[in-house]
Amino acid sequence: MTAKILDGNAAARHIRGQLRERVDALKARGVTPGLAVIVAGDNPASKVYVSNKAKACAEAGLHSEVHAIDGGSPERAVLTTLEKLNRDPRIHGIIVQLPLPRGLNAERIMQSIAVEKDVDGFNWRNLGALVGGHPSFSPCTPLGVMELLDRAGAALEGRHAVVVGRSNIVGKPLALMLIARGATVTVCNSKTPDLGGVTRRADILVAAAGKPGLIDAAMVKPGAVVIDVGINRLPQGGIVGDVEFASVKEVASLITPVPGGVGPMTVAMLIANTVTAAERAVTSRAA
Ligand code: NAD
Repeated sequence: MTAKILDGNAAARHIRGQLRERVDALKARGVTPGLAVIVAGDNPASKVYVSNKAKACAEAGLHSEVHAIDGGSPERAVLTTLEKLNRDPRIHGIIVQLPLPRGLNAERIMQSIAVEKDVDGFNWRNLGALVGGHPSFSPCTPLGVMELLDRAGAALEGRHAVVVGRSNIVGKPLALMLIARGATVTVCNSKTPDLGGVTRRADILVAAAGKPGLIDAAMVKPGAVVIDVGINRLPQGGIVGDVEFASVKEVASLITPVPGGVGPMTVAMLIANTVTAAERAVTSRAA
């Protein structure tokens, strides 16, 4: 079997096109959805992600602004910028690009984003809403994974989903989304014994560990749907996921490539959340 490849670039383009109508409707009411991105320090990968997000915003007709904060600045500089953006009516969504430089407390910073502007969905209140089954803003990467699964028509109810990775931004929220859709979910981490024994039982296998080549063909059940969230920069240049794409595509039924799979979907979901935040702001202003 050779897997069908799930094209995240094409899906993301389609989503941005659909969002354009909602953006135009907001603009007709005098509101341009606005996203502010705070980037602290000079991580080269962060700069690439931030510029991709700004480009995607422009393509979808959003206003975006980047607030670069010197990596040596104290946490207060980030918090002061956040306080201003929380009050700024032109800004509907705020994200803080991760990872933050050493010495900055990511948890405190994330919890300082106004809950109604938390379009990355990392605020405890938004994560709690997801736990409770009433999601408001959910993290963009797991949302992007769910969107790809749905667009591919992958059945979830009654299926065994295995998520490799349990971070607060990918693995855990994705597990909650899969649970909400009726999947039986197993979440693995770096201490899971016999990882292959677990992944081989997956109808839907999601790799989100950040370990190149972690999942090989022998770890995949024939016909499984394989989603690769990993983004690993190779020392010689280039990017690979966590899945050995060439061999696993011969076993799986559906597979995402890296790059061009989950990555563009994450950005599309960020735009979608920002448009939703702007719509909610308009509704609450009118109420
Ligand atoms: P993280 O480092 O916070 O978490 C990694 C998780 O993987 C941990 O729970 C860890 O226990 C688990 N893990 C590590 N090695 C393992 C192993 N050998 N076996 C089983 N589990 C193992 O990382 P994160 O922020 O969740 O990101 C994970 C990957 O996804 C990274 O490569 C990151 O770059 C990528 N990522 C991609 C996108 C995207 O848009 N495509 C977005 C966010 C993160």
